[in-house]
Amino acid sequence: MSKKVDVLGIEFEHTTKTEIIYTLEKRIRDNKKTFIVTANPEIVMYAQRDSQYKNIVQSADYILPDGIGIIMGAKLLKNPLPERIPGFDLMKDLLTIANKEQLRVFFLGARENVLNKAIDNVKHDYPGIQIAGCHHGFFNEEDPEVATMVQESNPDIVFVALGFPRQERWIRNNAHLFQQGIFMGVGGSFDVLSGTVKRAPALWRKLNIEWLYRLIKQPQRWKRMTFLPIFMLKVIFTRKQDSRSS
Ligand code: UDP
Repeated sequence: MSKKVDVLGIEFEHTTKTEIIYTLEKRIRDNKKTFIVTANPEIVMYAQRDSQYKNIVQSADYILPDGIGIIMGAKLLKNPLPERIPGFDLMKDLLTIANKEQLRVFFLGARENVLNKAIDNVKHDYPGIQIAGCHHGFFNEEDPEVATMVQESNPDIVFVALGFPRQERWIRNNAHLFQQGIFMGVGGSFDVLSGTVKRAPALWRKLNIEWLYRLIKQPQRWKRMTFLPIFMLKVIFTRKQDSRSS
């Protein structure tokens, strides 16, 4: 599994959710350290503006397409990706593996009350998981205390819910402290896990309009959506350039 699909400079893994879960399960068994980024168009656009962030994202072992925009972009670029792999779904699948294998999971990020509720739900729904530890997401990144706490908890999986670009930066800056483990930025997933934010119903997800549900529920996010048409325009422009040069 090594084919990559370039979408505006970010190299996505050409894989399905089933395949990547199989690979990750194997990497856990083999004690390999793994950095996962689930990138949406907003992340790709941000990486275009910030080369340091782009380098961090590109240093991940697997960059997966979170968001229908990436799938549409790859298709327009005539290099389609098999399917969308939402970060939240991947996190749930990893929780299921952790439950089965009694793995140690660290939860880093979100507001303290949200985090505590999320942990309560995890304890209830995945009783086999060993909670290696948790810490809210409002701390000073320069202070090594939190990273040391995560390191000393000896985790198999670390979910980092600090929102981008902070979560990917935190993982990159601290990865050297660990010999093994899965490290994944999960954005607002603890908010959903805690029940504070509702996920779109299955039909909306199936129709690929989860983003619309989010916009209706959290209209304050509309500004963050304006990047989507710009992303699509950039893809179309890149396609035109590519077809001229070939
Ligand atoms: N968050 C955090 N520390 C911060 C900023 C954000 O822990 O300094 C948390 C926030 O509480 C939320 C999550 O990061 O739980 C990400 O939120 P957002 O909806 O912005 O992320 P997205 O899913 O859009 O990447």
